[in-house]
Amino acid sequence: MSTAKSYAAYDSDSFLAPYALTRREPGPNDVVINIHYCGICHTDIHFVKNELGMSRYPLVPGHEIAGVVESVGSGVTTFSVGDRVGVGCIVNSCRTCDSCLAEEEQYCAGMVMTYGRDDVDGSITQGGYSTKVVVDSKYVLRVPDNLPLDGAAPLLCAGITTYSPLRTWNVGPGSKVAIIGLGGLGHMGVKLAAALGAEVTVISTSNRKETDAYRLGAKHFIISKDAEAITAAAGSFDLILNTVSAASEVNSQLALLAKDGTMVMLGVVPEPMPVACLPLIFGRRRLAGSLIGGIAETQEMLDFCGEHNIVSDVETISAADINTAYERVLKSDVRYRFVIDASTF
Ligand code: NAP
Ligand code: ZN
Ligand code: ZN
Repeated sequence: MSTAKSYAAYDSDSFLAPYALTRREPGPNDVVINIHYCGICHTDIHFVKNELGMSRYPLVPGHEIAGVVESVGSGVTTFSVGDRVGVGCIVNSCRTCDSCLAEEEQYCAGMVMTYGRDDVDGSITQGGYSTKVVVDSKYVLRVPDNLPLDGAAPLLCAGITTYSPLRTWNVGPGSKVAIIGLGGLGHMGVKLAAALGAEVTVISTSNRKETDAYRLGAKHFIISKDAEAITAAAGSFDLILNTVSAASEVNSQLALLAKDGTMVMLGVVPEPMPVACLPLIFGRRRLAGSLIGGIAETQEMLDFCGEHNIVSDVETISAADINTAYERVLKSDVRYRFVIDASTF
């Protein structure tokens, strides 16, 4: 066992504070990673506040981890000391179910999330707001050499969560894609959909991010409260990625889909949202969900980002600023991902 510096939530109401974390003894298949950066995903905030009712404390959040390999176990053949690597939301799975065999470990009933779940040694997994992590090499990703580690960290969740539905629904040249909510996920969705060749529209709550939306690759921008613009866009989109972190107007959003279009819910909204049948029936539209992506697809996404020079727009912060950063995320005041410099823990 080894210790690592970290920040943890001790309960659902308090600020995150320093925590002396114990990492498990590395096994033969494990990689010990010196963490350089960890992104702040809105899911971390949902978990810290126990909004999904499944948090265990103390809880060290963080599943957008980028760093460098410090050591490898005797059985590891795929990574060496000094490699630039990443870890996302998954650190283990059953490896034998249909989802695992299909390389969709995110849908494995035995999937072990990077924090808050039972680890192989009986401890509880703890995330990347820390200096070090021990992960089975099967769940470690390779970060392309041309991508800086701070901008690459958010690819491990925000990147793959938007890339996976774009690929599942075959987005490419000619596709019309709308991204609702221009936050951490949303800004990656714009970059990735544009790189895949789609015509991208951003739907946002105000005009504050309009200039950014065009810079990120969008061709159109709609303010969600602009009833006239929403009516004019009815029936337009083949695919909508809904990244809003709170309940939103699902029925007026569904009406934006073209015939056979799909809206994919990515935001983890704890409360139910009423769905009307008519916008689904007229136009044979679909309402779907999607969870991160599998390990192989995450590597494919990282390689795609390497080829297209895509990273997240990040604002790097010190560990002491995590609580302030949380408040800013909750006010949608982040452009577009906070990344913690792990040397400040
Ligand atoms: P984020 O950076 O906070 O972005 C969310 C965006 O949604 C905001 O920037 C804002 O965009 C919009 N928004 C926020 N509150 C709103 C409200 N009340 N009404 C309308 N729009 C609102 O969060 P994120 O890290 O991108 O995560 C987004 C959601 O996805 C979270 O719920 C997170 O837990 C979830 N998530 C899901 C998965 C998955 O696998 N499905 C993976 C990662 C994260 P504008 O300023 O443009 O309006
Ligand atoms: Zn996340
Ligand atoms: Zn499985």
